[in-house]
Amino acid sequence: PLATSSPAVTDTNARQKKTVLIALPYPLPGWGFHYSLPQGMALRPGDIVHVPLGKRVETGIVWEEPTHLPAPLRPPAAPPLNPARLRPVIACLPLPPLPQTLRQFIDWVAAYTLSPLGLVLATSLRAMPAKPVMEKANWLWQPLSFTPPTPFSPLANMDKHPLAKTDKPGPFEYSQHHSAYPSFTQPEPSPNLQPAKLSGPSVRITPQRSKILQCLTQAIEEGKTGLSTAELAEQTQTNPTVIKAMSKAGLIKQGAGPAAPLFSPPDLTYNVPTLSEHQAKAAEALSVPIRQNIFCVTLLEGVTGSGKTEVYFQAMAEALAQNRQVLVLLPEIALSAQWISRFQHRFGVTPAVWHSDMTPKQRRKVWQGCITHQAKVVVGARSALFLPFATLGLVVVDEEHETTFKQEEGFSYNARDMAIIRAQLSQAPVILASATPSLETYANIQAGKYRHVLLPNRHGHATTPQIKLLDMRQHPPLRGMFLSPLLTEAMAETMDKNQQVMLFLNRRGYAPLTLCRSCGHRLQCPHCTAWLVAHHNPPRLICHQCDHQEPLPSVCPACGADHNLAPIGPGIERIAEEVHTLFPQKRVTIMASDTLTSPQKTSQIVEQITAGQKDIIIGTQSVAKGWHFPHLTLVGIVDADLSLAGGDLRAGEHTLQLLHQVAGRAGREQVQGHVLIQSYMPEHPVIQALAKGDFTAFLRQESKIRQAGFWPPYGRMIALIITAETEQKAELIALQLAKTAPHHRTDLQILGPSTPVLAILRDQHRRRMLIRAPKTIFLQPIIQHWLSLIPKESQKHIDIDVDPYSF
Ligand code: ADP
Ligand code: ZN
Repeated sequence: PLATSSPAVTDTNARQKKTVLIALPYPLPGWGFHYSLPQGMALRPGDIVHVPLGKRVETGIVWEEPTHLPAPLRPPAAPPLNPARLRPVIACLPLPPLPQTLRQFIDWVAAYTLSPLGLVLATSLRAMPAKPVMEKANWLWQPLSFTPPTPFSPLANMDKHPLAKTDKPGPFEYSQHHSAYPSFTQPEPSPNLQPAKLSGPSVRITPQRSKILQCLTQAIEEGKTGLSTAELAEQTQTNPTVIKAMSKAGLIKQGAGPAAPLFSPPDLTYNVPTLSEHQAKAAEALSVPIRQNIFCVTLLEGVTGSGKTEVYFQAMAEALAQNRQVLVLLPEIALSAQWISRFQHRFGVTPAVWHSDMTPKQRRKVWQGCITHQAKVVVGARSALFLPFATLGLVVVDEEHETTFKQEEGFSYNARDMAIIRAQLSQAPVILASATPSLETYANIQAGKYRHVLLPNRHGHATTPQIKLLDMRQHPPLRGMFLSPLLTEAMAETMDKNQQVMLFLNRRGYAPLTLCRSCGHRLQCPHCTAWLVAHHNPPRLICHQCDHQEPLPSVCPACGADHNLAPIGPGIERIAEEVHTLFPQKRVTIMASDTLTSPQKTSQIVEQITAGQKDIIIGTQSVAKGWHFPHLTLVGIVDADLSLAGGDLRAGEHTLQLLHQVAGRAGREQVQGHVLIQSYMPEHPVIQALAKGDFTAFLRQESKIRQAGFWPPYGRMIALIITAETEQKAELIALQLAKTAPHHRTDLQILGPSTPVLAILRDQHRRRMLIRAPKTIFLQPIIQHWLSLIPKESQKHIDIDVDPYSF
């Protein structure tokens, strides 16, 4: 019997069956399922087991009651159960248990986002290897008599188990041996290990051969599994051919030694930069909590190019020196190629990378690397939060203000906020890095909850770019054009000096709207309340909401008028067309999700730009993020007003963050950068803040407005989104929600039901309700109770979005 560190098994009565709580990776209600424990099986929390579920065998995790959650988030107690009716656990798998910090994190995310526990658990288990992932074994010479230690012995009679031959057999080999965990990192015994038959007494033992045998025997006595050809040749001063001949003669054999680690450890001293005085001070401030292993959140603020990455690399080195793991969350994986080469430059190896584009095999390797502490640094997209880190010692969230950290498919969560919970559960410090911090982070600094470290200037000789507003009412473009003559003049001047220009417009395709000049008909998506966007490369109409595509028509589908369809407004392809007319000799490249289709494609385009093979870069928000283009000195923002329209309260904050990031691409090296901003409302506070580069003043102003209205981050908010196949049904459910809403609570504000701008999405009719409360109230139990009051059938049509982005 194995000692259990904390009892997962509930011993209700010595004579009764023991029960165990198991979480399964499926969106089922409740907080795990009870099973009985077979005689002689001992389980620890986190152990990975096979259990019967209906007629199938499923993989689950030994779970604990989530008593660590704050009371309002704790799920309601499960009804009492009859142990006699419980089915037994089938087997415990020979894998290390899921770490407690990860299990508690999964509890947190599920409770906070009001999602089924199993749905969140599934995110984590998706990459769990079915059996240990093996790195190439290290082949070593061994004396013939040597038998390598067996990693673990599979449970012999497993195939006789009544459940072992079901339609969906588990992917695991079974074992009862917990003590066999080292097997997870050891290579499988290789078939090459079979000893060759000794070929009789004729084998000659020359002095050289005898020396080799002695040397090997000594190595084995010292506890080694063998010696490599190089080691053996060096230690005995013999030629490798002698070693090969001995193997042929059956005197020695080649066997597997310990495998190389799945990931090479970073070399902390590989390429240490000389930090400037400000940078060194910042790095030291970040390192203090790392050395003390305490949870705290620090904002590392600094204009783009101030060296935030260099500074947090230094903090990472500190965590690695403490032998703890580091997680770096990046907003978009497109960024990772540049980031990884910087990491390589600093630490001499590549980190473990985690994103949605990986093969299952790559994912399993990272998953295992995390749980066995072989992956020291993981850089990834938001779901990297669910990796089973053995000893997490630092979490970095780069570009913390980025809206892509908010996941909206599956269960909605904000990866930045959840990263902070993840770190807190591991007692690890957090670094949030940004040039344009989010209002949430700003509010936490104001409240004294987060620390603030500032890098005041760009590194080296680079200065911040000069920003100029272009009032489009006074400097309009020519008819049918979108670029003001002032901007095109500046472009020509810049390119005359062999420098690059970037034009930014956050709109993919050629034109956002196509209109029939005869009847006024507008081409609309058949599945959404959205216009079809015309694309020319390749030619087609695309709905940017649901990705519906159709050919570009030449005839109006409403009135049949021939060749009278007109593109209205610009997309980046139309800007590229205009640029081509103006500068036919120049080399233009487009950076948008349509062209950055894979990491390879992205690297290729980035390399061309970096090498100076392009003159003009035209891009959507894909160009805003972190790129460092040394020859780029002029940035033109084609339409600064674009995202300010619309009723979203966060529009101002997000526009400013985005445009500030874009502006930061200009002049990152010696040459002074310039930014020209085209706007029809240059007096707008956001455009003014952008032109003056005074982000803090904007945050101060914006926080006053939000504070006065108890809007986030000064209040809590949850959105309920109703989706149904028919408008009638959506209305009906909206009515049910409105009727049962907690109107009696005067401390809450209930808004809606309302019809969102995107009233129909993918043929689903949508309605929305919002509930708001002061920061002191947890809304989760209120929502849970509210939803329990409407019919079960209706509940299925409601998505819960905790801390929604738009309001
Ligand atoms: P940020 O993350 O704030 O945008 P980076 O860390 O990317 O800034 O730094 C901008 C550029 O300056 C990079 O090319 C980086 O290598 C360089 N740099 C910053 N600090 C140093 C330093 N102390 N020594 C050498 N190069 C530096
Ligand atoms: Zn659509």
